[in-house]
Amino acid sequence: MDSTQFLRQLILRLAGSPSVSRFVHKHDKTLGARRFFAGVTLEDAIAAIRQLNGQGILATLDHLGESVTNAKDAEVQANAYIEVLHAIADAKVDANVSIKLTQMGLDVGREECLGNMRRIVAAAKESQNFVRIDMEDSQHVDATLDVVYTLRRDYDKIGTVLQSYLYRTKNDLDRLIGDGVTVRIVKGAYLEPESVAFPQKADVDRSYLELVDTCLKRGHYVAIATHDEAIIQQVDAWVKERKLPRERFEFQMLYGIRSARQRELAAAGYRVRCYVPYGTDWYAYFMRRLAERPANLGFMLRSLWRK
Ligand SMILES: Cc1cc2nc3c(=O)[nH]c(=O)nc-3n(C[C@H](O)[C@H](O)[C@H](O)COP(=O)(O)OP(=O)(O)OC[C@H]3O[C@@H](n4cnc5c(N)ncnc54)[C@H](O)[C@@H]3O)c2cc1C
Repeated sequence: MDSTQFLRQLILRLAGSPSVSRFVHKHDKTLGARRFFAGVTLEDAIAAIRQLNGQGILATLDHLGESVTNAKDAEVQANAYIEVLHAIADAKVDANVSIKLTQMGLDVGREECLGNMRRIVAAAKESQNFVRIDMEDSQHVDATLDVVYTLRRDYDKIGTVLQSYLYRTKNDLDRLIGDGVTVRIVKGAYLEPESVAFPQKADVDRSYLELVDTCLKRGHYVAIATHDEAIIQQVDAWVKERKLPRERFEFQMLYGIRSARQRELAAAGYRVRCYVPYGTDWYAYFMRRLAERPANLGFMLRSLWRK
């Protein structure tokens, strides 16, 4: 394992510590946590989306939160997403939603989660909007795909996410392509053991390109979610070599990361969608962003030192 991978795993491990959480919450402004989310209210998020849409960038909205442990909290979280879908329709902005199933009660029980998701999907159906189900750690992959398939029996504008760091993903992608389920390909943001995920970054990157290539070759609409310039350049080269229609895929990036590149790709005629998180429950999301780029940590610690 190289030093970046080591630091990445260390940050993800430390994220679980209550004292680290207290420290990060206390110094959130200095640590720059707010750079990664659009604000705490839905109005903040809609304003950010309007701005992105004005730059030719689409959005997907994430109401921050994960891993609820009781049915009541899951219901409250689902209600927030229903409100989000209504707000998107009312504001007439170009955005869909991205949802984590543990936030909808997946760890409480499959039926609780399905009940909440069915209410959300009904709200999405009213405006014919699209629902993306995010992928979480490897222990939730089977249960997530099961919920995706169950929901799609009633409404097909539902897609999910596959992670290139998992060995199993090639097979999952085959199945999803066969069944016409739209996918977002990501590298993967969770702490995973070598028994299920490639430990070397080079293998994760290689696997990423293979998965995207499979989608493009099979004409399967794919969301290419990465900030990795080498991957973006490779896709751009394939588009030119193979004369691929640009409607076959979209690039996706996270709010606050490589924003200038997002605008540049949109101006070059690519479909670009920005993942816009908002809300008060930003800690776990922020720690994953920190782990992706441990260099950020040094910068942030220096800012704290100077304070
Ligand atoms: C739209 C979107 C949705 C996602 N959904 C999921 C999901 O459902 N499940 C999941 O497990 N993961 C998800 N992820 C996260 C993903 O798995 C990766 O952890 C994340 O995208 C970083 O990988 P990368 O492809 O950008 O490549 P990397 O190799 O990690 O990064 C490439 C380059 O991008 C820049 N960069 C990357 N991350 C950061 C950062 N945090 N701060 C500053 N610069 C950075 C740096 O220049 C870096 O060198 C999502 C990512 C995106 C963009």
